[in-house]
Amino acid sequence: MAHDEKKKKKFKAIIIGGGPVGMYLAHALPETGIDYVLCEKRDSIPPPTALGLFLWPHGLRLLHQVGLIDQTEAISSSLTKITHVGPEGDIVRDYSGFGFIQLAHGYPVRMFDRASLGKMLYDTLRAPETHICTNKQLVEIERRVGGVTAIFAGYRAVFGRAPIPQSQQGTSSSSSSKSLLQPERQVEFHRDGALLQLFTSKHEVHFISYLKLDQSRRERRGFSTDIDEADEAIAPWLDTRVAQDVTFRDLWQTKAAAGGANLDEGVVRMWNWGRMVLVGDAAHKVLPNQGMGANGGMESAASLVNQLTALLPHEPEPNTAELRQAFAAYQAERQGAMAAYRRMARDELDGWTRSGGAGGPPLDALRAADVLISPMVARAVRLDAVPFPEERKRVLALGVQGACGGGEGGGGWAEIVRRMVGANG
Ligand SMILES: Cc1cc2nc3c(=O)[nH]c(=O)nc-3n(C[C@H](O)[C@H](O)[C@H](O)COP(=O)(O)OP(=O)(O)OC[C@H]3O[C@@H](n4cnc5c(N)ncnc54)[C@H](O)[C@@H]3O)c2cc1C
Repeated sequence: MAHDEKKKKKFKAIIIGGGPVGMYLAHALPETGIDYVLCEKRDSIPPPTALGLFLWPHGLRLLHQVGLIDQTEAISSSLTKITHVGPEGDIVRDYSGFGFIQLAHGYPVRMFDRASLGKMLYDTLRAPETHICTNKQLVEIERRVGGVTAIFAGYRAVFGRAPIPQSQQGTSSSSSSKSLLQPERQVEFHRDGALLQLFTSKHEVHFISYLKLDQSRRERRGFSTDIDEADEAIAPWLDTRVAQDVTFRDLWQTKAAAGGANLDEGVVRMWNWGRMVLVGDAAHKVLPNQGMGANGGMESAASLVNQLTALLPHEPEPNTAELRQAFAAYQAERQGAMAAYRRMARDELDGWTRSGGAGGPPLDALRAADVLISPMVARAVRLDAVPFPEERKRVLALGVQGACGGGEGGGGWAEIVRRMVGANG
């Protein structure tokens, strides 16, 4: 450990909330010698949720740095392919772009179910029983925190997971079968005002359906598991064919779990007040279509830990002004990036839910996001004080540009790889 433990003993962090970001902090803080206690209002850390989660290379890299890559890989599957289906059921784009993410960043995109991720993050903590309190809800902080601005995005989402239908099991990702429910494949069904995403892992299909709400209906509807086929985000997709002899209704009727909410988004203006600081969704909430919320939250947590590890050796008992400075530096590093991620997710979802006329959904939205996101992923925050010699580096094979540059939409990936040379080389 690079820092003087003795000096830091007096400083202790209280983490409120055992979501992915709180649990990452519970790993990262002790790695740099900072003690903590985490309070979660639920009665267990693994959430009872229908929701899947995919982590990008920068999220996986942070978990690798705190020693969790093997455990992470054991409970997740990688995504390598993406298929876009237009309103008429025609495949408008089918490519292996996700596969190139591993080449470009050293890590792939991996899909998790949240309960397994939460359990793994809990089970791998040092002495969790002395650091984690469940059934412990924060109800008040003596100093009042400033206001929070939430912007209603105007999208409703319904999500869930179902077993892979019997008829589709054993369909390999390399076979020429017409099934879109293949492991490692993400499929996007586009319609005017709506999007359905399917992510298939070894055993399950995770789905998220988005419905664009019109201006006058941006009411707040919090998370609920009480969803039926009549839900406006589900009904348009029920007869959609997601594989030979399988409609979305079949998945819906065999689902293991489902939930829904009207989505909100926003980046808070003030991230700290006195000795309190916001991290993760509490500071920056982005739409889920690009899967950046938890990834960005973990990156913010790493940035905050970096500021604290820079401060504490000099000021083992920092006063409020010193902490405020560290918090301000953390916010300065992360606010712009999270505002950019928020904007990109919003633009992409707006693009994907426009019919785009004869050409199908406007795939340029996807390409633009690919090209912008990749350098941000490459430069993402690591823990400064934790040696990381085993970090996986990108592999830029000669000729990769030719390999991914051909075919419809392939140019986006050739472009990414070209940019990566500048961003990460
Ligand atoms: C449909 C959907 C799909 C998504 N997919 C992805 C994805 O693929 N990849 C990705 O990176 N992100 C994804 N996200 C975003 C991701 O879920 C969030 O960014 C992430 O969960 C934020 O983590 P967090 O720990 O900051 O907050 P949360 O996950 O919201 O956790 C907060 C925790 O705090 C607890 N808590 C709340 N109030 C109190 C209190 N007063 N006292 C004590 N405890 C409290 C809660 O019970 C909860 O456990 C998705 C979001 C949605 C809605």
